[in-house]
Amino acid sequence: MRVRTVRTREERKRPSVFMRLKADESFRGVALFEPDPEAAEKGENPGYFEYYDHYDKAGNTYVPCSGEDCPFCAANDNPSTRALTAWYFPEAPDAKDQIKLFTMNYSTIEDITDEAEEEDGILGKKIRIKRLDDRGNYKIKVLPDKPLTAKQQKDLLKRLEEEVLKGDGMEGLVVAQLKRQIERLKALDLLEEEEEEDEDGDEDEEEIQTGTRAAAAGGASARERPERLPERPALSASQGGGTGGDWPEPRESSPVEPQQRVGELDIRLRG
Ligand SMILES: [Zn+2]
Repeated sequence: MRVRTVRTREERKRPSVFMRLKADESFRGVALFEPDPEAAEKGENPGYFEYYDHYDKAGNTYVPCSGEDCPFCAANDNPSTRALTAWYFPEAPDAKDQIKLFTMNYSTIEDITDEAEEEDGILGKKIRIKRLDDRGNYKIKVLPDKPLTAKQQKDLLKRLEEEVLKGDGMEGLVVAQLKRQIERLKALDLLEEEEEEDEDGDEDEEEIQTGTRAAAAGGASARERPERLPERPALSASQGGGTGGDWPEPRESSPVEPQQRVGELDIRLRG
């Protein structure tokens, strides 16, 4: 086993292809997409990928929905709509920072779709996006700048595919994220199984330890986690790759579960 080392100062900065905003921050970028899942489905909209995902409370992270064999759907968790969108930042001093991806939530997708209808499309147009708060509210405004020419659009979409997505498309990034998350969930599942095997020991001690660990994990209840995970994610091995572990951290506050009391947990474990 080896430890991954930081080899250069450049690497330490952990450059990300994702554009992230904190509350009150905004960006001005040129849209390299139309908010149109049907065009994306036909392969005509490579800067846009709309999909479903689940918020995993225990891990404080988002897990793309894998459809029929999705462990979250199996546990009756309703997925949310999300879209990965591509943006061009002509003013970025470094060419490799000129194309970034931004993840949109449901209400932002609705807003930008509305703008696109109003403006007869947004591809190639400069747009300002401002994050208003930590509850997932954004403000969108199409700016009057001169739009990109068809040639510029074509060249930038080619750069997106080759430099940012490395040939796997937007879907490749989301599939890579799904794979990582399924691996994480499987590891958790294995931990739980080991725990169950140990339960013949000193019962009281075991309960205290379990309760403490659950509390340390953010009050996560095992009940909310899917009981059974698929043996392996239903993904083709040819997909994946993408840009490694730089998926956006969930910054939007999500409905916070009340901290589970240890007493409650004890009762559950006994039963
Ligand atoms: Zn699902």
